[in-house]
Amino acid sequence: MIDEAIKLLKKYYGYDSFREGQEKVITSILKGEDTFTIMPTGAGKSICYQIPALLLSGVTIVISPLISLMKDQVDSLNSVGIKATYINSTLDNYEVQQRILMTVSGYSKLLYISPERLESEYFCQLLRTINVSMIAIDEAHCVSQWGHDFRKSYRTIKPLIESLMDRPIVSAFTATATKEVKDDAVRLLNLKNPKVYTTGFDRKNLFFSVIRGENRKDYLLKYVEDNKDQVGIVYAATRKEVDNIYELLKTKGYSVGKYHAGLEDLDRAKAQENFIYDNINIIVATNAFGMGIDKSNVRYVIHYNIPKNMEAYYQEAGRAGRDGEASQCILLFNSQDIMVQKYLIEQNTVLEERRAVDYRRLQDVVDYCHTTKCLRKYILEYFGEERVADYCDNCSNCKDETELSDITVDAQKIFSCVARMKQGFGTILVSQVLKGSKDKKVSELGFNKLSTFGIMKGYTLKEVRDLMNVLIADEYMYLTEGQFPMVRLREKAVQVLKGNEKVYHKIQKRQKIEVEDNSLFNLLKSIRKNISDRENVPPYIVFADSTLRAMSESRPLNEENMLNIKGIGETKFKKYGEEFLQAIKDYIENKN
Ligand code: ADP
Repeated sequence: MIDEAIKLLKKYYGYDSFREGQEKVITSILKGEDTFTIMPTGAGKSICYQIPALLLSGVTIVISPLISLMKDQVDSLNSVGIKATYINSTLDNYEVQQRILMTVSGYSKLLYISPERLESEYFCQLLRTINVSMIAIDEAHCVSQWGHDFRKSYRTIKPLIESLMDRPIVSAFTATATKEVKDDAVRLLNLKNPKVYTTGFDRKNLFFSVIRGENRKDYLLKYVEDNKDQVGIVYAATRKEVDNIYELLKTKGYSVGKYHAGLEDLDRAKAQENFIYDNINIIVATNAFGMGIDKSNVRYVIHYNIPKNMEAYYQEAGRAGRDGEASQCILLFNSQDIMVQKYLIEQNTVLEERRAVDYRRLQDVVDYCHTTKCLRKYILEYFGEERVADYCDNCSNCKDETELSDITVDAQKIFSCVARMKQGFGTILVSQVLKGSKDKKVSELGFNKLSTFGIMKGYTLKEVRDLMNVLIADEYMYLTEGQFPMVRLREKAVQVLKGNEKVYHKIQKRQKIEVEDNSLFNLLKSIRKNISDRENVPPYIVFADSTLRAMSESRPLNEENMLNIKGIGETKFKKYGEEFLQAIKDYIENKN
């Protein structure tokens, strides 16, 4: 059976083999077993139910929570020649009837619906009359109140399954499931002795890095400048922060959009569409953005603020490099963000018990930001993968691309000033004193008489504050909680003041996504964009970046060679093959 599945994989998707984990899940499903699969974003969940759907005799009903995702998936399937359709609230009655007919007649092998559809008795009745071979439940954690995206209508799935005469195979998928959520979901979805698979968490093409103690605005601007032609997402914690970053990048002339829940629906949809269709390179967004975004050519995801937990982080960061091409996931750490997240927990979490869990999960993120061990190992172990290697050689801790500079003297000046100000003020006032500011507050408090007044006058105020942030990130000092955080010294700082220890600052080398000769790749991208505009489908649905990259490297000149490229199946070749072949031939001729 699995051989049959591999043949279909090649025929429709143009891939030679299943990824680790996919094969196990598919084998289970084809044996008729219920499955619960925990696989991170981008690891390839969809294929796990799409291929079995083709091999099973009846229809596969896919329950998916997001309308945008549904359309995208169905467009993708149709583009590779698989008959699939969806029903949701964007369609009128006539269209719904048409699509029901397509399903009843067996024309469509997959029918995507939203869980709300199951609240209609008429619709459930209809499902009882057709041959449903499998129910595939995407984002299965939505059924549990312990998950972060609880959807009441997911609770209608269980009664539906129970009401079907021939019980179909049930396969459930999620990217994020803690043990509580998993057990809850298995029970609430009525899975029968399910095989549970946790797999594919290792995304080898993603480079993980944590940047501490650097001015993040400067870092972001440099990064974006160095990677101007690349597509990226910048996540920030609040709407206000999104607005600010967006304005910053916009005024510098970058091709950027923004997305958060405070925007009008229309503006949000427009921003999302611009991003998906490659009309803009960068999107700045809160965590409201991304669910259901399948865009495969995202080359970097920067977290401007720390996320609320590792699940959220990995889901968001995992939106980079879905096509398997090298991509970067960068987390900019600033200890002040911890307070923002704590505030959000206090605001949003009513249950005491739940709050304790949220605090613990936040601490896991903070630990991730401070660990000196391999970042990938930290993540994989967090998600429960076993036998993880100690070094991955593809994260900022394994590839320590930092330069060390001795900042002991400056650190002593700062610590001494903080001590003389009785540890009772924030970073702004301390830096003003060190700089020797004429600000009224400084003289009113008599700080202009301190021996540390003006001892760092050679620096700008911003440079002094940045240095203070480095010392906070490296835990020589900390900020008190509350509305006006005060800087305090830790024991480590006292040792430095006594001259017992030195302070070094790690400076990250700037990271540029390496690209080789890009001329043919860019040409192929422009052809893809033309097709995308012509057919009104997102560019990545035409071909993934990785496919174009492979084409530009191997330069196929005939159908056979083209079909050997990953991501080109028969249907895609028929649709677009000639256009690309011609472009490659012309390119080679011109070069010669
Ligand atoms: P998920 O739903 O888990 O987020 P997708 O199903 O969207 O992930 O798959 C992510 C990307 O990986 C897609 O571009 C998909 O075509 C690709 N992919 C999936 N399975 C394979 C495979 N076996 N070989 C190569 N690419 C694959």
